[in-house]
Amino acid sequence: MAKGTVLVSGGAGYIGTHTTVALVEAGYDVVVIDNFSNSEPSAIKGVENILGKKINFVEIDTCNIVDLRKVFENYKFESVIHFAAYKAVGESMTEPLKYYQNNLVSYMNILQLMKEYGRPNVLFSSSATVYGDADILPVTEETPRKPATSPYGNTKQMAEDILHDCCRAYDGFYGIALRYFNPIGAHTSAQIGELPRGVPNNLLPYITQTAAGIRECLSVFGDDYDTPDGSCLRDYIDVLDLAKAHVAAVDRMTEGRMKEKYEIFNVGTGRPVSVLELITRFEKANDLKLPYKIVGRRDGDVPAVWADTSLANEELGWKAERDLDDTLRACWAWEKHLRNIK
Ligand code: UDP
Repeated sequence: MAKGTVLVSGGAGYIGTHTTVALVEAGYDVVVIDNFSNSEPSAIKGVENILGKKINFVEIDTCNIVDLRKVFENYKFESVIHFAAYKAVGESMTEPLKYYQNNLVSYMNILQLMKEYGRPNVLFSSSATVYGDADILPVTEETPRKPATSPYGNTKQMAEDILHDCCRAYDGFYGIALRYFNPIGAHTSAQIGELPRGVPNNLLPYITQTAAGIRECLSVFGDDYDTPDGSCLRDYIDVLDLAKAHVAAVDRMTEGRMKEKYEIFNVGTGRPVSVLELITRFEKANDLKLPYKIVGRRDGDVPAVWADTSLANEELGWKAERDLDDTLRACWAWEKHLRNIK
């Protein structure tokens, strides 16, 4: 007997694919929707290869409520995980309307239909960006949010608030926001992983593309921060651990174990790692040399942020378990798979 049916919007994306695998492995039926705006059909194939069976997939744009309603007519959902969103911070600065339009309209459609069809358990994928440059580290869920510095960050904060309002106002409406730190890694099968388009903004895909010879040299953005080695500190969470956090949160919602109607959890490892340390660990784990140079600071980067994960540990019964070196090996294995490198 399946544990229930979960709608996964944006389920062909990086975190969506890994979460879909984890949900099915945990005994859920899953319906994935995606419009491939920032992903590819091969991602769904990868999920199916890992699971050894077909998954329910519908290619639609979540912004189109007419199409989305058909999905709700065809399936009964106990919960939804909403990943479908644009995520490039820089692009959101030059194309704010595109970000507000896509990220908020798709979200409102999901919330509206979950409410209408009477099964409103909503898991929203939020981000540690809501903490900005926090005064006290590590950050807990009680740490005040800082004003967003980009339209992308603003959509995350607004979406959290909208979910909170819905949970407060509507009977039987429950929500969880998971605040991700820095997701990295890939499935151990190397069948699914991150598929960045163009020049990657994020550190790990830039590292693996440099190792593959696609980029000449990695730029380290700043070594003059007030941190142990001068480079920025982040909390890098393996995408497989992150996927399990989603399963734990869906379990909590569907089993009626929530303590509040709206809850927030940090999803990180609780361990800060510097950019320079990550480079060294990547080189050692994969036995290779990475060309890199120190350049100036990147606009908008905070010096350091990492999670206090006690709440997720205690309430979700979840803890990050993957070893960083294994994660970095999986990153490289995925890049090699993509580029046909032996
Ligand atoms: N970073 C870097 N070079 C790059 C990309 C990122 O030095 O090509 C650094 C960046 O300054 C930050 C860390 O790597 O300290 C993580 O950046 P990323 O963009 O992956 O995530 P963010 O923390 O900004 O969300």
